[in-house]
Amino acid sequence: MEIKNTVAKLLDGVAIAGEIKNEVATQVKTLAASGITPKLVVVLVGHVAASEIYVRSKVKTCGELGIGSEMITPPETITTDEMLSLVADLNAREDVDGILIQLPLPKQVDTKRLLEAIAPDKDVDGFHPVNAGRLQTGQPALAPCTPAGIIEILKRSGIAIAGANAVVVGRSDIVGKPAAMMLLNESATVTVCHSKTTDLPSVTRNADILVAAIGRAGFITTEMVKPGATIIDVGINRVNDQAELEKFFPGNTARAEGFAKRGYTVVGDVDPRAFEISGAYTPVPGGVGALTIAMLMQNTVRAAKQRRGL
Ligand code: NAP
Repeated sequence: MEIKNTVAKLLDGVAIAGEIKNEVATQVKTLAASGITPKLVVVLVGHVAASEIYVRSKVKTCGELGIGSEMITPPETITTDEMLSLVADLNAREDVDGILIQLPLPKQVDTKRLLEAIAPDKDVDGFHPVNAGRLQTGQPALAPCTPAGIIEILKRSGIAIAGANAVVVGRSDIVGKPAAMMLLNESATVTVCHSKTTDLPSVTRNADILVAAIGRAGFITTEMVKPGATIIDVGINRVNDQAELEKFFPGNTARAEGFAKRGYTVVGDVDPRAFEISGAYTPVPGGVGALTIAMLMQNTVRAAKQRRGL
C-alpha cells in the first residue's frame, strides 16, 4: 500500500521562537518600567567548543531581549565544593533571577549534587527535583526548556493535545519524562517508550502526536508512523556517512551541498521520509531546537516575576 500525503504541514520552530522572543521582550519592557531588569547568569566551565557556542548564543539573545546577563567561566580544574560555593553565592545574590550551569561538566564535578544546589526559584533550566515535582503535581514550575518548547509548538500550531494519543519515545529526565508529564497535564493520553519497550512500532503507530527523543539518526521510520500524525522530532544527530545522506535525503541538492561543504548533515531521530505521511512535523534543524533558547528567556522572565510575587 502506498500512502502519500502531500499536505504535511511544516511546523516552523524558528518563526514560533521569534513570536515567543517578541512576547518576552514586551514583558521585559513592562518590568523595566518598574525598575526591574531580569538577569541570567550562565556558568561555563572549561573550554568545550559546543558549550561555548550555546552559551554565546544564550548571552546574545539576552542582550537582544533586554535581559541582563553575566557569564562566569571557572577553570576546567574546579572542584565540586568550589562550584557549590559559587552556586551558593548566586542563590544569595538579589540581582540574579536565573542560574544556568552549562552541561556537560568536567568529570570531577558532581553534576547531580550541583544541579540540586541551585535555588529552585532560580532554576531556569527546570532540572531541579523541586521543579520536576511541581510539574508533576500541576503547580506553577520552571519547566525544562526543550519539552516546554514542544508544548508551545503544538499549541501555537493549533494541534489539539487534549484527548490525543501522545507517544513519547525516550524517557530522559531532561526531555522524554518532562515532555510526557506536560502532555499529560494538557490532557493527552500518554504512552512513554524506551529501549526495553516491546514491539515499539505497534505503539508508535497508535500515536496522534509522536515525540521522538532518542538520540539515534532516523530511528523512527515511515512504517512506525500513523498517517496524518503530528511528529515532533527532538533529535539532533550528525550524519557523516554519504550513504546515510542519500538514504535520508534522496535527490535533495541543498542537503548534498551542505554535506559536501561541512562533511556532515544534521538529522533528527525520525527518518525524514516519514514526514511525508504525517499531518504535521517539526523539521531538523529549524524545529524543536529553535525553541530552546526562547524558552530559557521566558523562564528567566518568569523567575524574575515569581521571585517578586508578580
Ligand atoms: P538520552 O538521555 O540519551 O535518552 C535517550 C532515550 O532514548 C532513553 O530513554 C532511551 O531508553 C531511549 N532509547 C534509546 N534507544 C532506544 C530504542 N532502540 N528504542 C526505544 N527507545 C530508545 O537522550 P536525550 O538527552 O533525551 O536526547 C534525545 C535526543 O534529543 C538527542 O538526539 C539529543 O541530541 C536531542 N536533544 C535535543 C534538544 C533540542 O533542543 N532540540 C535538547 C536536548 C536533547 P532507555 O532509557 O531505556 O535507555
